[in-house]
Amino acid sequence: MITSMDTIVSLAKRRGFVFQSSEIYGGLASTYDYGPLGVELKRNIKDAWWRTFIHQREEIVGVDTAILMAPQVWEASGHVAGFTDPLVECKNCHHRFREDQLEAKTCPDCQGNLTEAKQFNLMFKTFLGPVEGNAAQTYLRPETAQGIFVNFQNVLNSTRNKLPFGIAQIGKAFRNEITVGNFIFRTREFEQMEIEYFVMPGTDEEWHQHWVEECLRWYLGIGISKDSLRVREHGPKELSHYSKATRDIEYAFPWGWGEIQGISNRTSFDLEVHSKNSGVRLDYFDEETKKHHVPYVIEPSAGVDRIFLTVLIDAYTEEDVISTEGKQTNRTLLKLHPSLAPIKVAILPLSRNDRLVPKAREVYNMVRSHFVTQYDDSQSIGRRYRRQDEIGTPLCVTVDFDTLTTDDGVTIRNRDSMDQVRVKIPDLIPTLHDLLSQ
Ligand code: ATP
Repeated sequence: MITSMDTIVSLAKRRGFVFQSSEIYGGLASTYDYGPLGVELKRNIKDAWWRTFIHQREEIVGVDTAILMAPQVWEASGHVAGFTDPLVECKNCHHRFREDQLEAKTCPDCQGNLTEAKQFNLMFKTFLGPVEGNAAQTYLRPETAQGIFVNFQNVLNSTRNKLPFGIAQIGKAFRNEITVGNFIFRTREFEQMEIEYFVMPGTDEEWHQHWVEECLRWYLGIGISKDSLRVREHGPKELSHYSKATRDIEYAFPWGWGEIQGISNRTSFDLEVHSKNSGVRLDYFDEETKKHHVPYVIEPSAGVDRIFLTVLIDAYTEEDVISTEGKQTNRTLLKLHPSLAPIKVAILPLSRNDRLVPKAREVYNMVRSHFVTQYDDSQSIGRRYRRQDEIGTPLCVTVDFDTLTTDDGVTIRNRDSMDQVRVKIPDLIPTLHDLLSQ
């Protein structure tokens, strides 16, 4: 259930998920910083992805390559010549737009006439060392993929993998987008999670379909609602310069469908051009047939920040509830999948009573060595539950006077159902494990 972007942006700031970058100086447009909860959520998204696609698959390995690369990489890959968007400018207000994103042929801000489109290269230029000039110029990478292609032979030689196999990487990418917006959906600095999956030519279309299905399954596995996801095939005019076919996984954002992941059939384009331009042979020798092949590549390429936004929007829920005092009220909660929740367990003493606090801290010390845990003894218990609901903490553990005097037990409260169960402290860790893995 959503909700406007303002609601999400304000929750993200209030609770420490995402802040405007350089805010005290008025902010840098469309650049964001991840706060204490944001960094946990982002890390959990990346860990979930890495676990599924690298650790749980025998044939995929990871790398972490440099953001700065030799400028020849970008010449060869076609990015210098072709990584462009059509830029138009309003002749009246001088605002600039991406022509292919405009609905009308006039300026959306003042209805003025627009200039002819110019191809604008999206790569950020930078200079290596103390001299500025063409000799020292390179780019901030606009995709993590090229770091994988140029290391194809290194990885193959060091792992002796057989086709089909994949190389994955998570890292920052930079694009000097003409128009940015929708919070962290489109920014100029963002993070990608990419796999280059090398396959025998001729089997590429089958593998393309396989990867669309695998990726969709992953989104469902981290709790994204099925009805808000769809797959969209790129039309011929939309295809990137390297792509034979691309399918996007899109999410139903508050402003409409938007891409969260592209899955492209990059053919043998990248390995061929790097072989040709570097003079180094980049291919695969099949021991059985004694033949060399230049593999085709299927590339699932996802944006961490867009998935982060998707997860927040999808989890955001407002509902009417009956309070502990029996009153009709409402609450906001993030129904985050437990594996993504920044805080898994909150330890809440019923009050700041001198006898309760040491026991609650004892329970906190025990639990935090197993789960990311928060201790909170401020304000009323009802308000603390609401606060944990709003940041998506799946379980709250309450320590009360019965803990001390009667049963050596604590109460576990479930975020979504608000059901409470009493467990003995010695059984607490296994019970939390069970509840978090349901
Ligand atoms: P778009 O059509 O939205 O510009 P794209 O097709 O250029 O995106 P890809 O090159 O396929 O994007 O990049 C793969 C993924 O990287 C995208 O699905 C998206 O999640 C993420 N991504 C791309 N550009 C940005 C950006 N400017 N800000 C945040 N994430 C981005």
